[in-house]
Amino acid sequence: MLQADRIVPTVCPYCGVGCNLELHLKDDYIYRVTAPFGSVVNRGNLCVKGRFGYDYIYHPSRVTTPLLRKTPQRAGERTQAFDLEEWRLVTWDEALDTVADRLVEIYRRDGSDALAVYCCAKAANEDNYLLQKMFRALFRTNNVDHCTRLCHAGSVVALQQAIGSSAMSNTAAEVILSDCFIVTGSNTTENHPIIALQMKAAVQKYGAKMIVIDPRRLELCDYAALWLPIKPGTNVAVFSAMAHVIIKEGLINQQFVDQRTEGFDEFARSMEKFTPTYAEMISGVDRNLIIAAARMYATAQRGAIYWGMGISQLSQGTASALAVIHLALLTGHIGREGTGLNPLRGQNNVQGCSDMGGMPYHYPGYMPVDDPANAAHWERVWNVEAGGLNRRRGLTTTEILANVHPGGVRSLYIMGENPMMSEPNLNKTRQHIQQLEFLVAQDMFINESGAFADVFLPAASWAEKDGTFTNTDRRVQRVRRALAPRGQSRPDWEIICDLAKRIEARLGRSNSAYWEYAHPSEIMAEVSRAVPEYAGVTYARLDAQGLQTPVWDESHPGTPYLFSDSFPRGRGKFTPLEFIPVTELPDDEYPLILTTGRVLEHWHGGTMTRHSKLDELYPEAHAQIHPVDAAMLGIENGQAVRVCSRRGEIVLRAEVTEKTSPGVVFIPFHFAEAAANLLTLDALDAQAKIPEYKACAVSIFPASPAELPHQEKRVPRGRY
Ligand code: SF4
Repeated sequence: MLQADRIVPTVCPYCGVGCNLELHLKDDYIYRVTAPFGSVVNRGNLCVKGRFGYDYIYHPSRVTTPLLRKTPQRAGERTQAFDLEEWRLVTWDEALDTVADRLVEIYRRDGSDALAVYCCAKAANEDNYLLQKMFRALFRTNNVDHCTRLCHAGSVVALQQAIGSSAMSNTAAEVILSDCFIVTGSNTTENHPIIALQMKAAVQKYGAKMIVIDPRRLELCDYAALWLPIKPGTNVAVFSAMAHVIIKEGLINQQFVDQRTEGFDEFARSMEKFTPTYAEMISGVDRNLIIAAARMYATAQRGAIYWGMGISQLSQGTASALAVIHLALLTGHIGREGTGLNPLRGQNNVQGCSDMGGMPYHYPGYMPVDDPANAAHWERVWNVEAGGLNRRRGLTTTEILANVHPGGVRSLYIMGENPMMSEPNLNKTRQHIQQLEFLVAQDMFINESGAFADVFLPAASWAEKDGTFTNTDRRVQRVRRALAPRGQSRPDWEIICDLAKRIEARLGRSNSAYWEYAHPSEIMAEVSRAVPEYAGVTYARLDAQGLQTPVWDESHPGTPYLFSDSFPRGRGKFTPLEFIPVTELPDDEYPLILTTGRVLEHWHGGTMTRHSKLDELYPEAHAQIHPVDAAMLGIENGQAVRVCSRRGEIVLRAEVTEKTSPGVVFIPFHFAEAAANLLTLDALDAQAKIPEYKACAVSIFPASPAELPHQEKRVPRGRY
């Protein structure tokens, strides 16, 4: 067995669980990944991505030299270039000067609203803090957002409205202290595998009762006391019917409702019509299951709710999350260990990117941009003249693309995201991106979005830089440099500082001391001075097991669970609800409902996992279809099928399985050659602006095997 030269402790770059890793290196090469048994997060466990999914950093298609497009790209005529022949290898100076020149030119000509930036939920807190600082402090725009808009925006808006905080209230590992917990809209086994292990232990070792509410027969259903097979998009009906039962049967926690909440009477009146029979008619869930679930959760000593994007990725995403939150407010299952409202955050650092202000309505620390006191605070921190920061809310990711036109957004800077895979209705997304006047991609690979760019800035991987990630239960953890960046790639924070100084010089501002950091720990020190929830976060204190925010000062131990005495908004607020169906219901032409999601072996748009040996484990997309539907359509397992919606069509293999329900088709969204988001709908939740990924109408037809997409590589080959 190989003997490691070094073992470097760090954090997994994939999901929001934030598992601790040990990178084993020999001759500066990572050859093995293990997990420390002492970790409070994953206790020696890792899923397949954490253990084997690191090899993308060595992939020959990785781009490690700055690139400029050979052919100038014009708005309306922008094309994709995956082939390196279409790019010119340039120096960092030429690449960054080009970016600075073009951004300043557009800013001077069209003003701050013409610029927009996507931060990155995979990058470190320090990277994201600096990127939003650059656009806010130098270009005076709040057009700053990231993929939280596309996963949990409905949860964020609902939680802010109901209790004044959008973070997970409790620590995931506390599930073993619950005696009943609900898992809804989350295939936890595949999306947050280590939390799923803890859920199974809660059931098998500690006797907890698990209730799964989901359209698909998930692996967790094998451990559940109840499974409620809900039709996609009918969450408001089912959770409100549970509230109806809890109120009617006198199962509310009256003391909690009286002392900790407001708006109960009006809310209770709105729940009158949500009888279990009414909910059964809408959702297809047997009324007796709804009643049993309501009783089981309400009568628990410690009840918790864990939810995923099946709740939030709907045009009624905010209402769905409110319906979930109401159950905790009715029963008082919040503010204690083993209880809580727990939206499982998807990406490794989506919590941190939000904390760092990677959103259009908030500065770091969730300080609203339209509050003059907050703007004045950040003007002092960033040495911006009084009144200099923009007080208007910016555009969300979906609005940024929809506003790409003359007089609107002209330039987009994308760090690590891939809207050409992750946005809904990709044909429309393509048209928007093509209309950009200037596009910058900062990434490791030329992905489907970066292929449209004018300039490509090669970024170091997570193993090649220092920083911090904040996981789904608010734990800030150290990410450590194990290797030198490959080729000429640089850590994101270094690229941003270098670029910011060039932009400042062109704008005639002399503030470059504000972009001089010797190490990311100095960036975190600036965050700690300015954001109260991070006041006690220092690299030295993070070294052991990280710290859970809020960390109010340097002696504060961190906060495993929130809201023991009060909510940030004071009292928890009930909101009366109505049931509104999804935007596009099945009909004769498109008779099935499509729902999308992830699989265990892959991650999001596949930029990392499809350049890893993980791709060999799960090399192509499948459309999961129930045997009843397959029989009616004459479709066999493994057969090529064409899936069509009103927006596009894809060809892929059918997987005939009882994992999905009759009438519901599931397709993962990782595969460019059969991109599920060509089919999805760009209808938005009115408040959260999150798209309706979880429900649209589709039809399926047998296709010829010759129509199946080739497993072609989408990125240029050759090492640079
Ligand atoms: Fe990484 Fe998430 Fe798997 Fe843990 S559960 S190893 S954080 S992908």
